[in-house]
Amino acid sequence: MQREVQRVRAAFGSGRSRALAFRRRQLEALRAMVQERERDILAALAADLSRSELNGYSQEVITVLMEIDLVLERLPEWAAAKPAQKNLLTMLDEAYIQPEPLGVVLIIGAWNYPFLLIIQPLIGAIAAGNAAIVKPSEVSENTAKVLTKLLPQYLDQDLYAVVNGGVEETTELLKQRFDHILYTGNAAVGKVVMEAAAKHLTPVTLELGGKSPCYVDRDCDLDVACRRIAWGKYMNCGQMCIAPDYVLCEPSLQDAIVQKVKEAVKEFYGENIKESPDYERIINLRHFKRLRGLLEGQKIAFGGEMDEATRYIAPTILTDVDPETKVMQEEIFGPILPIVPVQSAEAATRFINEREKPLTLYVFSRNSKLIKQMIDGTSSGGVVGNDVIMHFTLSSLPFGGVGSSGMGAYHGKYSFDTFSHQRPCLLKSLRGESVNKLRYPPNSQSKVDWAKLLVLKRFSRGKLSLLLLALLGVVVAVLIKKYQAVLRRKALVIFLGIHRLLSREQRTEPSSVC
Ligand code: NAD
Repeated sequence: MQREVQRVRAAFGSGRSRALAFRRRQLEALRAMVQERERDILAALAADLSRSELNGYSQEVITVLMEIDLVLERLPEWAAAKPAQKNLLTMLDEAYIQPEPLGVVLIIGAWNYPFLLIIQPLIGAIAAGNAAIVKPSEVSENTAKVLTKLLPQYLDQDLYAVVNGGVEETTELLKQRFDHILYTGNAAVGKVVMEAAAKHLTPVTLELGGKSPCYVDRDCDLDVACRRIAWGKYMNCGQMCIAPDYVLCEPSLQDAIVQKVKEAVKEFYGENIKESPDYERIINLRHFKRLRGLLEGQKIAFGGEMDEATRYIAPTILTDVDPETKVMQEEIFGPILPIVPVQSAEAATRFINEREKPLTLYVFSRNSKLIKQMIDGTSSGGVVGNDVIMHFTLSSLPFGGVGSSGMGAYHGKYSFDTFSHQRPCLLKSLRGESVNKLRYPPNSQSKVDWAKLLVLKRFSRGKLSLLLLALLGVVVAVLIKKYQAVLRRKALVIFLGIHRLLSREQRTEPSSVC
């Protein structure tokens, strides 16, 4: 492990990952990998998650291709130095912010979108000029194998490496020093990662999960709301960090929501859900049993069918769920939708605030004022009004959690920034020592007064204008004194000229007295 990290670090030390042209070539190679080896990638996703080729393409591959296209288009702008605002003391200097690569970054992925969760951060790491080690989830072993085979075929093998393994190998890997770690997974392991990173003072981005609530208001188009909720909840069999975890609504809406979600499920997956190519399976037996345990003692209003042999769990809805029961104590990460009745939007807001900050908050209402009120009254990684999941697809929005749902963010420019150091640069000339005397000892009241004048913002514009006027006056006085004789001669010439002009005009002008 140590040797592998050293090898990658030495490659970073060569400096070749910094050149923009090099970064572009690597990103183009990554795009070629995705396009040329699409079949292999989709087959691995199907083997790991029973994900259809169409779903694999539209949920993972297309996102990666979009991200690469965006980065290739915007990279020169993102990587360019940005001029910084200057003050009176630095007016004649050069001040700018230069993004620079952090070094060797570690990307640890999770199994539920095993291709996307490795490649999307990797795009950001390459774009920012870093070297990277990626550690795919061992749970989605087929995708891990494909990544291990393909990445070295297309990318610089020394700069970008794949390390495989489970807890033991990752523990060993985390003992090494990295310059940034981006981890996607559950919060318990997030703490392990952060602790390991702290030993080297390595910054971390933690993309975690949690229970994302979904409030459905009385004033709402329930057909639309329930179709969207059903889509987000049962996609990838609910194994999605931003799936709506549970629904909060007034008690009177419960039955209608159950009915409409049922209708949407039928519309999406047909009468025989098991046969639908769009409905996936639970990743492994451990998660299957965990999910089965969450149903104990609950009122199942819809679904609930299970098949251990194929790890099938039908789209399921629970009603009148007690917030103290197990299903409301942990992230569900499966196709189970509890409905928790609350008396009002205010009660829903209180309910959300009494719990850990979620990764996403969903609010469905015709009343945009109410949506804004819920946004103002709560905190979450992201918010979507009248839809679910869709904020993930917008690369102009930072994607990440807050509090126990994570820290830091990525996607698009935010990935570039996550993997960059914003380096402040101030380039001064060796002249101007007379002004610099202000900051050298011995200090004095007049120096402090000058400093206040030159750098404090609270110094009013009026006073500054007066000062500039006074300075201008001094400059003019000095000039006048220096060029007194010349000016006197010039003034005399001008005076004589004007005088001559006036006398000529008087001679030619007809007399006004006839
Ligand atoms: P997982 O089991 O694949 O684990 C994630 C990674 O952590 C793997 O690479 C694994 O090898 C590593 N790991 C596991 N135990 C470890 C340990 N003790 N020390 C070091 N590394 C260890 O995935 P998971 O954690 O089951 O993923 C599901 C969770 O991830 C959910 O909470 C979900 O919400 C969250 N998630 C978040 C996002 C996001 O973008 N915010 C995306 C996907 C999943």
